[in-house]
Amino acid sequence: MPLPGAVRECALSVAPPAYVYDLAGLRAHAASIRAAVPAEFFYAAKANPDARLLTALKPYVDGIEVSSGGELAHVREVLPDARVAFGGPGKTAEELDAAFPLAGRRLHRIHVESPGELRRLAALRREADVLLRVNLPLAAAGASLRMSGPFGMDAEALGTCLDLLARAPWLRLRGVHAHLASGLDAVPLLDVAAQVLAWGRSWLDGVDGPAEFNVGGGMAVDYCAPGRRFDWAAYGTGLAALRRPGEVLRIEPGRAVTAYCGWYVTDVLDVKRTHGASYAVLRGGTHHLRTPVAKGHDQPFTVLPVGDGAAVDGPVTVVGQLCTPKDVLARNAAVERIAVGDIVAFALAGAYAWNISHHDFLMHPKPGVHYVG
Ligand SMILES: *Cc1c(COP(=O)(O)O)cnc(C)c1O
Repeated sequence: MPLPGAVRECALSVAPPAYVYDLAGLRAHAASIRAAVPAEFFYAAKANPDARLLTALKPYVDGIEVSSGGELAHVREVLPDARVAFGGPGKTAEELDAAFPLAGRRLHRIHVESPGELRRLAALRREADVLLRVNLPLAAAGASLRMSGPFGMDAEALGTCLDLLARAPWLRLRGVHAHLASGLDAVPLLDVAAQVLAWGRSWLDGVDGPAEFNVGGGMAVDYCAPGRRFDWAAYGTGLAALRRPGEVLRIEPGRAVTAYCGWYVTDVLDVKRTHGASYAVLRGGTHHLRTPVAKGHDQPFTVLPVGDGAAVDGPVTVVGQLCTPKDVLARNAAVERIAVGDIVAFALAGAYAWNISHHDFLMHPKPGVHYVG
């Protein structure tokens, strides 16, 4: 996994541990998604709500999807004129209420998760455009996460929502929202979109006006093959073929937008051989980069061999400073040699990385954050 020059330079000059974000890379990637996909593009902030990343993305997206009152307040502050879609399960009445200073231009859509939530929203008696989040029993072969269970609504709950909406004319039904699976490549994700559209068209038939389909995020990031990318061109071509005149399609990816722009950079504190295996103990660990534990993979990394301390031969298992056997960033990685003082840069650390990690466990210092590009 070659490091972009500016990231490499930064990795070699900053105090470890650190996050390094390649904003130029992020802008180029977002521009390529924008160019490839003929649908509205909302970025799911929960993947990484870093203010500099949101600001870099702003020119390339139609809006930001937020999933909590906290994200809503943050995005309002960072991007005061961005359009916002408010999703997420378990929205409180206070969170819904807090969305309304945005009303009109900026509060673009509220994604309703249940009849109970719709009742709470209706009780506020404020005008809003809503999508109903559907939970269809779809085939999604190969998905790494299936968003079944509590997310969205089945046909019966959706029927209840239609009754509620008929009595709450201040809420405008615009269409359906479906985020049904994640970790899918373009072909299976298009298949899910096709099923959502086919089902949604017939379900919305007879409902006046709306023909809006948010087909969610979930585009795959392959942590085992960090050079591979989701095929946005094929996905875009497929969506264009699925769309009928007058319909609005929207996507809201997170991981596949920001994963590639972030690196977690640190140094080797110790190396050892134990029971025939090589280990490198790094400054920091999974309390800064929880992704490999959360996803059950080995985080891809590059070693910058600048250390002059003791060394071990690979394959090497790379661990952090936490007193738990779970603090493993990569197992039996194919490196030839790793030495105390070497710099290690973990790739694909731009999404669901720092922001999902348990920072305070063991009270180690927090990483610095640096931006290049
Ligand atoms: C998390 C989430 C997304 C983004 O998913 P990615 O896998 O990061 O692309 C989009 N929509 C909803 C409703 C989500 O919960």
